[in-house]
Amino acid sequence: MENPFEIFDLNRQLLNAIADAGYTEPTPIQEKAIPLVLQGHDVLGIAQTGTGKTAAYLLPILMKIKYAQGKMPRCLIFAPTRELVIQIDKAITELAKYTDLRHTAIYGGLGPKTQIETIQQGVDIIVATPGRFMDLYLREEIGVKDLKIMVLDEADKMMDMGFMPQIRKILEVIPRKRQNLLFSATFPEKVERLSAEFLEFPTKIEVTPQATTAETVKQRMFEVPNTQTKINILKYLFSTGEMQKTIIFTRSKEVADHVYNSMVQRIVPFSKIRVIHANKGQNTRINSMDAFRDGNVNVLVATDVAARGIDIQEVSHVINFDVPLIYEDYVHRIGRTGRANQLGEAITFLTIAEEYHIKKIEKIIRMEIPREDIPTEVDVVNTSFDERQAQLREIDTQRKKEDPTFQGAFHEKKVHKPVAKKRSGSPAKKSQSHKPDKKRNVSRRK
Ligand code: AMP
Repeated sequence: MENPFEIFDLNRQLLNAIADAGYTEPTPIQEKAIPLVLQGHDVLGIAQTGTGKTAAYLLPILMKIKYAQGKMPRCLIFAPTRELVIQIDKAITELAKYTDLRHTAIYGGLGPKTQIETIQQGVDIIVATPGRFMDLYLREEIGVKDLKIMVLDEADKMMDMGFMPQIRKILEVIPRKRQNLLFSATFPEKVERLSAEFLEFPTKIEVTPQATTAETVKQRMFEVPNTQTKINILKYLFSTGEMQKTIIFTRSKEVADHVYNSMVQRIVPFSKIRVIHANKGQNTRINSMDAFRDGNVNVLVATDVAARGIDIQEVSHVINFDVPLIYEDYVHRIGRTGRANQLGEAITFLTIAEEYHIKKIEKIIRMEIPREDIPTEVDVVNTSFDERQAQLREIDTQRKKEDPTFQGAFHEKKVHKPVAKKRSGSPAKKSQSHKPDKKRNVSRRK
C-alpha cells in the first residue's frame, strides 16, 4: 500500500491533503480513533497534545460531513482557549483543502460581527470556545438543529477553566441524536463524570506516553549550538567504549543520512553501522534490523517512521540526535532501551530551536530531563550563519503558534547582515560574532 492512511475509509480529497501535510503514517491515536469515529461510535479519547489527536477526530469527521450542505453547522467542536480554537480551525483548513466544506472559528476577545457574518453565509463546522458559542446561540445567530457530531477537546482543561456550566447549557439546547467525541489529556474523576453525561456507550481509547517512560531508562540531555557539535558529541560518546548497542534517532531521512555519512569510518567502522529510513527498500531495512538484532551491527541510525513497530531488545543507548516533533515519539524512542529490566540510557541533543518541543515533551512525560554540560573533550563549533537563521526562523514559527498575533522577530535579526556576509562560506569558527552564542549556551547550562 502506497499510503498507510489508505487502510482507513477516507476519500481521495482527504488522502491528498494528508500527503500534503506530510503525514506518512497514522499516529497510535489516529489508528485507534479513525475507524471508530467513522463507524459512528461515541469515543472517549485520552491523549495529550502532540499525539496527533486533532487529526484523529478531524479526518473521520471531514469524511462524514463530506461536502458543503445547508446553512447550519453539522459539526461543533469546543475547545477551552482561543489559541486552541484557532489551531483546530487551521488544521481543518489544511485537511479539508480539497473539499468545499465551510468552517469557522469563533471565540471571545473581539467583536462578534465578522463571526456572525461568516455563520450567516452558511457553515458546516464551527470550532468555538463555549462562552462565545453560547453568546451567539442566545442571540439566535447559530442554529443547531442540523447538528450531527459534537466534540469536546481538552475537556479536562475546559473543566479546570470553569466552562462546565456553559457546556451543560449547550448540551441542553442541542439535538439529542448525535455522535459525541470527548478528548482529554488526563482522566480525573470529573472528566469521567462528564463523559458519562455526554457520551453514549463510548469506546475509550488511550495513548499513555507518560506510563511508558520506563524507570529503567536514565535520561539526560545536552544543549548544543548546532548540528556539527551534535556530531562531535557522538564522536566523543563512541570513543568512551560505552555505546554497546545504540539507536540514533533523527527527525528526517536527510538528517539520518547526514549522521550516517558523518559517522561511518570516522566514528564507527562501516561494517558496524546501518541507516534505515523510508527511502531504503524493505529488504535493506529488514536486513539492517536483523544485523542489529543479532549484534553484527551495533549502531542503527533511524527515522521514527522507519523504526516504528520494530521490537529490538537490550538496546544500551538511545540517542535523540534531534528532538521529535511528534512528542509521543520521544517515549517510543526511549522505550527501546531499558527493556525487560535492562538498564538503558537515553541521550538527547537539543538546540535552542528545539527548546520549545522539549518543554512540551517534558510536560507529557511529567518530568524534567536532566541537562548536562557538554564534556570538555567535545569540540563545540560555532554556528554557521545559515543554520543560525534557520533556528531563528523556527523559533519565530513556534512563537507564532503560541500567539497568533506575534509579528515575528526574525526580520529584525536580518539587520546583522554585514557580519553575516563575512561569515558565509567560511567556517563559523573564525567568526567573533558567534562568541556570545557559545557563551550563552554555557551559561544556560549552569
Ligand atoms: P496534535 O496532537 O493534534 O496537537 O498534533 C500534533 C502535531 O502532529 C501537529 O502539528 C500535527 O500536524 C502533527 N501530526 C498529526 N498527525 C500526524 C501524522 N500522522 N504524522 C505526522 N504528523 C502528524
